[in-house]
Amino acid sequence: MDDIKNKVNIDDKLFLNSYNVDTASHLAIKDTAVCLDCNEKICTFICPAHVYEWKDGHLTVDYEGCLECGACRIGCSHDNIDWTYPRGGFGIQFRLG
Ligand code: SF4
Ligand code: SF4
Repeated sequence: MDDIKNKVNIDDKLFLNSYNVDTASHLAIKDTAVCLDCNEKICTFICPAHVYEWKDGHLTVDYEGCLECGACRIGCSHDNIDWTYPRGGFGIQFRLG
């Protein structure tokens, strides 16, 4: 029982982080037509922050919640994500408390 109580809840940890959100996205899809033909859509489930969502026949990219982990860049099987860090001073501030 104590083991269950002591387990780390990732959503609780993520809630501690704060963001200085840039007005421009640091994540871009290179070619939206490639996403249309992408069967795997790995980005929609590899991202721990749920940044990518397939909605109404297209991909949405809610860059504001990005954790800057880079998983989507590596995971996209079509190398279709133009990935950069946010501009200096913007992005996530981790609080590990
Ligand atoms: S995995 Fe890559 S190609 Fe497929 S939907 Fe996501 S960004 Fe597009
Ligand atoms: S870098 Fe990580 S958190 Fe940011 S969008 Fe990609 S997978 Fe999600």
